[in-house]
Amino acid sequence: MECDTLIIGAGIMGLSTAYHMKKRVPSKKILVIDKYAGPGQGNSAKSEGGFRNIFTSETNYLLADTSIDFFFHMENELGYNLKMESIGYLWLFSEEQYEKIRPAVEGLKDRGVELEVYTREEIEVKVPTLMTDFGDDEEAELLGLKNVDYGVFGKKCGSLDADALVRAYEAEFLKLGGEVKYNTEATELIVKPEMELGIPGEPFVWQEKVIAGAKTSDGEILADTTVVACGVWANQLMDPVGLDSFQRPKKRQLFAFKEPKLDPVMRTVGLNHENALPLMVLPTAGIFLKAELTEGSIWLGCADTIPRKFELEEDPQAEDDYYTNNIYHALVMYFGEFEDVRPMNSWAGQYSINSFDETPVIYGENGVIYVGCGSGSGIMKGDAIGRVADALWAGEAEAELHGGMKLPVANIGVKNRAVEREEFVI
Ligand SMILES: Cc1cc2nc3c(=O)[nH]c(=O)nc-3n(C[C@H](O)[C@H](O)[C@H](O)COP(=O)(O)OP(=O)(O)OC[C@H]3O[C@@H](n4cnc5c(N)ncnc54)[C@H](O)[C@@H]3O)c2cc1C
Repeated sequence: MECDTLIIGAGIMGLSTAYHMKKRVPSKKILVIDKYAGPGQGNSAKSEGGFRNIFTSETNYLLADTSIDFFFHMENELGYNLKMESIGYLWLFSEEQYEKIRPAVEGLKDRGVELEVYTREEIEVKVPTLMTDFGDDEEAELLGLKNVDYGVFGKKCGSLDADALVRAYEAEFLKLGGEVKYNTEATELIVKPEMELGIPGEPFVWQEKVIAGAKTSDGEILADTTVVACGVWANQLMDPVGLDSFQRPKKRQLFAFKEPKLDPVMRTVGLNHENALPLMVLPTAGIFLKAELTEGSIWLGCADTIPRKFELEEDPQAEDDYYTNNIYHALVMYFGEFEDVRPMNSWAGQYSINSFDETPVIYGENGVIYVGCGSGSGIMKGDAIGRVADALWAGEAEAELHGGMKLPVANIGVKNRAVEREEFVI
C-alpha cells in the first residue's frame, strides 16, 4: 500500500494533524492508522476533558487559547456536540504557594488572560463546603495539608467531551476524503537509503536515510512522510531507529462519584452559569476534581509525581486502594461530604510526559514528523498541535493558529526549541 502521508495514531494529535494537512492539500492521499478499533482509544478518550488557557508559558497559552476557540467554533458553527462547559478552573493555593507564583499570575493578567484572584474569604462564599483553614488540627498537620488562602480562577476554562472531540476531527478529515484504517498496528518504521543502489545490506552508514513508511499488521505501507503520533507508545517505533520522542509514560487515574451526599459539593456560588463545581485543584498532593455535568457526577484525580514510576502499560487500571488508602485521607479533610463515599467508577490512562518543559514536541527528521508529549494537556492544545505539525509538513516557518496568531514552528521543535518552563502543571 502507498500513500503520500501515513499518520500512525488516531488520537487527538494524529487526527488533528491529519485534518489540517488534508485541508491544506486535499489532493494528497493521507492515511491514518491505529492499532485499536476506533479513534481516541489510546489515551485521548480516557482524558478528563479539562481545558484551560491559564498557562504561564506563552507557548502553552497560545496552543491552548487558540485551540479552545476552535473547539467552540466546532461546536457552535460546525454543529458537533462537544459538551463544552465553561465551568472555569479554580486553582487553590496556600499563602506560601501563592507568593511563589504571584509574579506568574501577574504575567497572566498582563497578557490579558481572563482570570480573578480570590482571597480565602471570597472562596468560602463561593465554595461553601470547602474547608479552607485547618487551624491547629493535628491530623491536618500530620498529613501536611495546606490551608486555602488564595484561588486563581480562570474563566476561559472548563470541560469538554474528549471522545466527541476526537470523533469530530475524524469526521471532518473523512469529509475531505481522508482515509482511516483501524485494527492496524505499525510494528516497525521502514528505513531506506535516499538513493537505492539495490545492494544487499542497504542502507549503509554512508548513505542518506529516510523513513519510508511502516511495516504493519496489515502489510507494508509506503509513504513520502510518516507521522508518528503514537502518544505513550512512540518509543516502540522510534527507539529502534534511533529517533527520540522525548516523552515518558506515567499512569494517571480518575474516579467518578455519584452520590446525593455530594450534591452540596457540586454546588458553588457565582463562579459559573451553572453554579457548579469548577475544575478545582486543591493545594495539597495535586488532587483535582470537577463537576461532570453530563452525568451529574464528580470526577476526581491526583497528579502524583514521586514515587509514581515511569512505565509503559498497555492497559493501565485504576488501583482500588489508591483512592481509599491514599487520596481519601486528604480529600475528606477539605470536603467532609466525601466521608465513607466510594467511587462508582474508575479508570486509568497514561500521560506522555516531557518533564523538561511540559510542552508538546513536534519535529521533522529524515521523512518522519514526530508529534507528541501531550504532558497531560494534549486535548486542550489539540487543534494548535495539528496546525503546527501541518505547517512543518508544508515547509512553513510559522504555523497560523485559529484566529490568526502565528507561532514559529521551530519553537516547539528540538534544535531551536524556544519554550518557557510551565508553572501551572497538573
Ligand atoms: C487520566 C487522564 C486524564 C487526562 N486529562 C486531561 C485533561 O483534562 N485535559 C487535557 O488536555 N489532557 C488530558 N490528558 C492528556 C491527554 O489525554 C493526552 O495529552 C492526549 O490524549 C494525547 O493525545 P495523543 O494523540 O498524543 O495520544 P493518544 O490519544 O494515546 O493516541 C495515540 C494513538 O496511537 C495509537 N498507536 C500507538 N502505537 C501504535 C502503533 N504501533 N500502531 C498503530 N497505532 C498505534 C494508539 O492506539 C492511540 O490511539 C489526560 C490523560 C489521562 C491519561
